[in-house]
Amino acid sequence: MCLPCLRLLKFKMTNNTILVTGGAGYIGSHTVVALAEAGYRPVIIDDFSNSQQSVLDGLKQILGYEVPCVVHDCNDPATLLDLFQRENVRGVIHFAAFKAVGESMAEPLKYYRNNLGSLITLLEVMLETGVTDLIFSSSCTVYGEPDSLPVVETMPVKPAASVYGNTKQVGEEILRDMAAAGKPVKIISLRYFNPIGAHPSALIGELPLGVPNNLVPYITQTAAGIREQLSVFGDDYPTPDGSCIRDYIHVMDLAEAHVAALQALGQPGPGSHYDVFNIGTGLGHSVLELVRTFENLSGRRLNYRIGPRRAGDITAVYADATKAWEQLGWSAKRSLREALEDAWRWQQQLEKK
Ligand code: UDP
Repeated sequence: MCLPCLRLLKFKMTNNTILVTGGAGYIGSHTVVALAEAGYRPVIIDDFSNSQQSVLDGLKQILGYEVPCVVHDCNDPATLLDLFQRENVRGVIHFAAFKAVGESMAEPLKYYRNNLGSLITLLEVMLETGVTDLIFSSSCTVYGEPDSLPVVETMPVKPAASVYGNTKQVGEEILRDMAAAGKPVKIISLRYFNPIGAHPSALIGELPLGVPNNLVPYITQTAAGIREQLSVFGDDYPTPDGSCIRDYIHVMDLAEAHVAALQALGQPGPGSHYDVFNIGTGLGHSVLELVRTFENLSGRRLNYRIGPRRAGDITAVYADATKAWEQLGWSAKRSLREALEDAWRWQQQLEKK
């Protein structure tokens, strides 16, 4: 057989299909792009409870082909089993989860059943089909109000402030217990800091339902005239300008961290493996710094006022991302300004639709 034919055969035989649960969501869709760019074959399962079909069109325009997508939740073992077998799934990135903090406090069972039920179902199907590799979406909320900064993975996990936060903590525990029990799984939990921005093409981005809870979509919607005024939640925190500090990471940097984690799991290693990584830039920025940077790059004055503190907000958190650099070879590359520029471009093209 000729060399190119051999290569083609090898490519066809290499199983590179990655199931992305919640792949039509904000972080999920950007990760689908990063996976495809890295040579993987992403397949989506999403119930579109918090995402829109238009995301699939955006993905098609960016990638030049239609990403396979099953419209279903992840709580149904039969659907998952069929999908794993039909698509020859090699690894999973699990984003699918409800994420509204306020709603989670009002509807705890809905959150525990969906977020933990889907994780357990997924793990059962992985065991049944012999799929070992899993990347789990966790959050820096596990650190609560940290005792020191930046936060390191070895720091203690604090009691969760919300049901949503607790589903992330318990999710991590379930995964750690699976590896501790010697189950044939290789799992990485990624603790995300604050993802912002959009794909530079402005074909996919964040699509908040109704009034945004998060800062950056609130800023861009205010600048676009959709919201009247941004309220900065408190300027009396013990920080240099009095507003809260977070580690804002470009969503494409975050997406690429999933690829790095998957590649690390792909290396030969022990049968059972579990680890956690901070995925942030390592830099803390205040709310008022974001407002100023945005005004500067957009050339628009932002209508904002200083409002009261928001219940449950912590003063400051940012990552020590050394472990991800040392063990995954990953670090954030894009600046805060770039992330805000991409968020603003995305918002402006949304208005044109
Ligand atoms: N924030 C704000 N006004 C808003 C939304 C958020 O001042 O309308 C602040 C919030 O208090 C926090 C930061 O922006 O300090 C990031 O909040 P976000 O909800 O985006 O993420 P969180 O860190 O709470 O997960």
